[in-house]
Amino acid sequence: TPASNIRNFAIIAHIDHGKSTLADRMLETTATVAARDMQAQLLDSMDLERERGITIKLNAARMAYEKDGEPYVLNLIDTPGHVDFSYEVSRSLAACEGALLVVDAAQGVQAQTLANVYLALENDLEIIPVLNKIDLPAAEPERVAEEIESTIGLDCTDAILASAKSGLGIGDVLDAIVERVPPPSDDQEKPTRCLIFDSKFDAYQGVVTYFRVVDGTGIAKGDKVKFLATGKTHDITEVGVMVPERIPVSDRALKPGEVGYFVASIKSVDDARVGDTVTVVKSQSHAVSTDEAEPLPGYAEATPMVFAGVFPTDADQYNALRDALGKLKLNDAALRYEAENSPAMGFGFRCGFLGLLHMEIVQERLEREYDVDLIITAPSVVYKVVPRQKNSEAVVEKVMKGEALKEGLIQEASEEDTPTVLVVDNPSRMPDKDRQQHTLEPYVRLEVIAPTEYTGPLMDLANERRGELVDMKYLTPTRTTVIYQMPLAEVITDFFDQVKSRTRGYASMEYALSGYRESPLVRLDVMINKELAAPLSTVVHEQDAQAAGKVLVRKLKEFIPRQMFKVPIQACVGANIVASVQLSAMRKDVLAKCYGGDISRKKKLLQKQAKGKKRMKAMGKVTVPQEAFMAVLNLR
Ligand code: GDP
Ligand code: MG
Repeated sequence: TPASNIRNFAIIAHIDHGKSTLADRMLETTATVAARDMQAQLLDSMDLERERGITIKLNAARMAYEKDGEPYVLNLIDTPGHVDFSYEVSRSLAACEGALLVVDAAQGVQAQTLANVYLALENDLEIIPVLNKIDLPAAEPERVAEEIESTIGLDCTDAILASAKSGLGIGDVLDAIVERVPPPSDDQEKPTRCLIFDSKFDAYQGVVTYFRVVDGTGIAKGDKVKFLATGKTHDITEVGVMVPERIPVSDRALKPGEVGYFVASIKSVDDARVGDTVTVVKSQSHAVSTDEAEPLPGYAEATPMVFAGVFPTDADQYNALRDALGKLKLNDAALRYEAENSPAMGFGFRCGFLGLLHMEIVQERLEREYDVDLIITAPSVVYKVVPRQKNSEAVVEKVMKGEALKEGLIQEASEEDTPTVLVVDNPSRMPDKDRQQHTLEPYVRLEVIAPTEYTGPLMDLANERRGELVDMKYLTPTRTTVIYQMPLAEVITDFFDQVKSRTRGYASMEYALSGYRESPLVRLDVMINKELAAPLSTVVHEQDAQAAGKVLVRKLKEFIPRQMFKVPIQACVGANIVASVQLSAMRKDVLAKCYGGDISRKKKLLQKQAKGKKRMKAMGKVTVPQEAFMAVLNLR
């Protein structure tokens, strides 16, 4: 197929607007997958994805389609749907020339619709609006078309009306892809460059790298390739295309515009990172340019934004946890972990995640696939601290602008003229306030879309969470979008739950990191039975410290089971106790509550106790349950 007959496109949508259903329907219509082989939602392959209705890892599918007697190859590149993976979304969009924008014709534009459109526009894609679910009685395609025009400024005269469920409009969608998505350019003079938009660890083949050929003479089995980000070279043992299952292609090179995969005995996805450029340095089957290949633009390393301690409930499981993290890491370049040894918690790991969803996914996979019981400490953002000394103001400026700087750990604070930026990913390591320093925290640009009647309660909530209103717009007379600058630390608490409850579930929300800002922050410590419980330390705004301390000790009192002795629980900032409560002593004898011989009830209680036990951690003489570690997530 010449490049002029190839179309590379993605589907972008808010969750549940019908992306997977539409993709399935297109595969079916183009006979890529025979109807009898169709499993619902073929593209979402991981169990977890299917259960949560989210797409975690992207995939691609090659479809053959004929229009006006002309054969075309349509490559659908699936993108992850969640903001935690926005870098991966962006890289998969960069492998396309166009995108279908699927909007539920009953629900209208939602926060994720907009976030995805911004990414598509950044990548200069041709966007084709598809108004889906027009079979629903509540569908209002004209109103939603207006909404798209007014919010995104996208002409909707040629928007496609579709029902992915009933199959209506699917032919129009396929025709529009051929007619409106530009064909890939085809520059065979340049050195070969391929963009990696996904990589996956396969137990039998090692890492499978998914790519789009951008220019050059292509890539074939037997080629020696070089990854420009790592500089490593590998020999390709298999090249192929996804239909959507992998089919090897051994008689030719994949050419510019084509989408495929290769296998090259790579052991970890760390060596085949999303966004990296692959070039061919040697080939037996086709000519190779001797010019140096420039990396394709946009490569960035995935930066974890949220950190938490991960400890086995049972110290015997430490090795199992280490092995499990190692295996997960083979398939998840964004996951970070390093050993952490805490006097209170024993041996475990400090892990970095892209966001809360990523953290939940990792936790669930560790427990489900590797069968280790975990205690996870409250997630924290990454603070940056600059000691007040000569040149510190200039360094603070640079941190706020996101410029690369000499960064170090607390212990390595430099005594030179220009201060080192301290990176604090663990609240218990936040230096004491009395040490002279600037404290900075990450901020996000947050967008919430909700029915106009809930704007008031939403703004109250945002104010409580230190939000700064940036903009407010009516999408329609009945729906409003509000945009805030807000500390990420406030967003990774129970914020989204609060948004949902204050809008009766009608709001959608997205956010993206916008930079660092200076805030007066202090470390709030917890003393249980007069001993510092470092994993419960948290960082709060100076003004909130006392109120937050009160809530924290009250909650801990609720969660920590009574012991055989009195236990004081205190919240402190430095040496100041800002709040304290006392857990009274109790002899725990749950069975005493059951009168008579109701065996099954006794059994149930015992089971409940045994289950509760699994997620407890002994800190000093006191056992602390998992819920207590999460108590810091809502200190209002
Ligand atoms: P995704 O999250 O964007 O991938 O959305 P899905 O494809 O999983 O669809 C979400 C829900 O909407 C599923 O229950 C689908 O059956 C349903 N759905 C998808 N397309 C249509 C449609 O055209 N009409 C109706 N009535 N339901 C649809
Ligand atoms: Mg889906």
